[in-house]
Amino acid sequence: MVRGGMLRGNFRKDITSLVPFLMVISLLAGCGPAATPPPQFHTFILITQDPNASPTPTPFQPSALESTAVPTFTQAVQIFPTITSTAPPPPTVTIPPPTPLPPVSNPDPSPSTSTRTNYILYADLDFEAHTLAVDETIRYYNNTGIALSDVVLSVQPNRYAGTFGLNSISQDTIPLTSFSLNGQRLTINLAQPLQPKAATTFILNFTLNLPAKRSDGLLGYDFNQINLVDWYPFIVPYRLGWVLHDPMPFGEHLVYDSSDIEVNLKTDPAVIVAASAPAEGNGEWTRYRLYGARTFAISASDEFLMSDSAVGSVEIHSYYFDGYKAAGEGILHGAVQAVALYDVKFAPYPYESLSVVQADINDGQEYDGLVFISTDFYGQYGGGAKNNLMTIGVHEIAHQWWFGLVGSDQAMEPWLDEAMSAYSERIFYEFNYPRFGNWWWQYRVDYFGPQGYVDTPIYDGGTFRAYTNAVYLNGAHFLEDLRLRMGEEDFYRFLKDYASRFARGHASGEDFFAVVRANTDADISDLIARYFSGSY
Ligand SMILES: [Zn+2]
Repeated sequence: MVRGGMLRGNFRKDITSLVPFLMVISLLAGCGPAATPPPQFHTFILITQDPNASPTPTPFQPSALESTAVPTFTQAVQIFPTITSTAPPPPTVTIPPPTPLPPVSNPDPSPSTSTRTNYILYADLDFEAHTLAVDETIRYYNNTGIALSDVVLSVQPNRYAGTFGLNSISQDTIPLTSFSLNGQRLTINLAQPLQPKAATTFILNFTLNLPAKRSDGLLGYDFNQINLVDWYPFIVPYRLGWVLHDPMPFGEHLVYDSSDIEVNLKTDPAVIVAASAPAEGNGEWTRYRLYGARTFAISASDEFLMSDSAVGSVEIHSYYFDGYKAAGEGILHGAVQAVALYDVKFAPYPYESLSVVQADINDGQEYDGLVFISTDFYGQYGGGAKNNLMTIGVHEIAHQWWFGLVGSDQAMEPWLDEAMSAYSERIFYEFNYPRFGNWWWQYRVDYFGPQGYVDTPIYDGGTFRAYTNAVYLNGAHFLEDLRLRMGEEDFYRFLKDYASRFARGHASGEDFFAVVRANTDADISDLIARYFSGSY
């Protein structure tokens, strides 16, 4: 996040002149579909769903991460106790209590007082063998308001055959026997109901035999890169039931609560690691701490080149490969511009760093503090801002606010993050490259003749093109019309109000329009009728 950064106070005046000095390089990736070449229909391959999937035998035995070496935690059900280790620390694996979050300008309780789910992971990555051995400690606070008889975790690696191996799982030091792992869903049946406001601790030891990365995904390895995304089991949100939607070949299906995440990583010293948070030394481990976030992504390569910049106290990193330096530095420039702008227009940047990472994927993909962008866009890059590298990169960076900071149901209401991120591209060009405004509308939006209801779920979109036309592109038109109706001052006040009210939380379509109406007296009922299938 930008905390009193050098660009904040005099942003409008200084951004243009400062950017050249700030930039080095960076990459943007995202879930934003590219504008050119026109209609690109990727061959989507559904991830194999194995209904009989079960904990697989340990494919290898981690040397330093034996399950018995996991520290235990104090007695189970307490009222928001501080995590304290009661067992003597093992010789190689220690799980210290989280240290306080540095002061931020964004309202955000520090981990010591937070009741967000707390994840502490010790992950040993064998880069050459494509394996990961992990000890994971989850401190879960029951904020649902009801007594829980079970807890559901998302286990995305288990969607890949032969990838996920669960070696042990315990609750408050007691080995668990009543659980089931079926595809992406791990259900833990609690021996005792977890009462409202009570907390409990789960400890998992698991291994990943990473899959070969597919063209339509990110998790796994290719010839020079390993990506870890949605790689550890996490407790899904509870909204009158556990929220874990079915995957789709396009569109994101996961919903995440904001959580506090500490990752301790060990790997080959020759490997360069891009991660969602800044690196710190922690003995033989490298520690990363990310608070108030939904995901923690890692990309590792022994061939990364890197350029860095900053916006105030926010570190901006660009990771790219040999031959793509101009593109890597071009997108770093764009990342600095985007973070500086959105920091002022939306909310302070939510994290301490942003890494933009080149990867062999379609388009781009966002995670908290880290975005991936397709190598195709690096290859196409010829300088300047009128290109996919910049539009998609900026789109993914906008997700740091519309996904990371303000959460929503990506499957059922994908417009809340996608239309907002698409329209954030428009805002980016408006402020940084005002002469390219018409180009952006034509290149990114109107070329495709967008139509369809903005509130289309990922399951109802039909084709990828139809889905993105409705949700992203018609969504951008809706937001433009909303802005014209509200007026500049009210619209931008609304954006800040919305980001502030739902920071680290979840927003629904109803929430969105409630905040709109709190910021305007204008009648928007005709816009809702024109663009939405639902009534708000
Ligand atoms: Zn997106």
